[in-house]
Amino acid sequence: MSRYLRQHLSELVPYSSARQESGGAAGIWLDANESPYSSAYNRYPDPRAIALREVIAKHAGVECEQVLPACGSDQLIDMIFRAYCEPGQDTALTFSPGFSMYDHCAQMNDVEMYHMSLDDQYDIHLDRTLTFVRKHAPKIIFLCSPNNPTGNSLTVDRMVSVARAADGIVVIDEAYIHYADAPSLAAQLEDLPNVIILQTLSKAHGAAGLRLGYAMAATSLLDDLRKVKLPYDLSSMVSDTAVQIIKSTTQLHQQIAETISERKRLRTCLENLPEVVQIYPSDANFLLVRFLDHRKVYTQLRAAGIIVRDRSALVEACLRITVGVPKENDILLATLQAI
Ligand code: PMP
Repeated sequence: MSRYLRQHLSELVPYSSARQESGGAAGIWLDANESPYSSAYNRYPDPRAIALREVIAKHAGVECEQVLPACGSDQLIDMIFRAYCEPGQDTALTFSPGFSMYDHCAQMNDVEMYHMSLDDQYDIHLDRTLTFVRKHAPKIIFLCSPNNPTGNSLTVDRMVSVARAADGIVVIDEAYIHYADAPSLAAQLEDLPNVIILQTLSKAHGAAGLRLGYAMAATSLLDDLRKVKLPYDLSSMVSDTAVQIIKSTTQLHQQIAETISERKRLRTCLENLPEVVQIYPSDANFLLVRFLDHRKVYTQLRAAGIIVRDRSALVEACLRITVGVPKENDILLATLQAI
């Protein structure tokens, strides 16, 4: 348990399931009112998800005790609010332009969210941020690196400085880290006792439909999160499939390499189009592109059956374009050339 945990949760013992109490030793299972008729899923899943956590830990280079999986990073973002923020009282901080789910979860949990602008390179404005953090002491600070929707990585030293200055939890959302040159901050977790790193199988691992994300943090913080976690939120089907996907490193590396190479190709080709004003640097699997007339481009792409994300409300005249497979990118480029 950490000192950041909401007071009323400090006495709460994480829900104790039948299987946990039995210690999980093999035998005749008559403890959880399951059907005794054997099938792939007649038993409840392991609430500690040990097999999955071991595989995640091995691949992320951390200890099993430093890993907590859940139904996507989205669920973990919500759990972090529920564990640490008193509704109507505590505050959180996010950076603009940024990922809108942090705001959404703040609203769901009645937490006031501060917004600070990133600098002109879409990096952390360090002096301003440190001053703000010391003055307002937000309970949670969200850093997203590589950042959605801009695509760039934040400078590691600046993220670490913010974490050291914060009197609260710092979430480092690494959903797109597998496409980046910069390493994950997971290797530095031991020195970052107030940091929770989020990663997901929804991007490079190609399993957005599976719904599996995980937090990596000091055990005291994961103990906090377990207090707001339901015991059987992860199905055995999801856990088993996730283990197989994480182990398929050859396919993962091939797909990441292709996406990075296609990201480069898309950038080069887009640069030559008259409608394109600016393409932001990207360490992710998407490009943020400013167009002369983004509405026209959006509408014409849509008419051709190509759906991109209009992010003009966050960054003027910009569309966010996910890198597809080569054939999809060819069609995108041909359609844009014809506009
Ligand atoms: N973080 C970022 C920065 C994202 O862009 C997304 C998905 N768009 C998520 C988290 C959500 O991930 P998950 O699918 O694991 O809930």
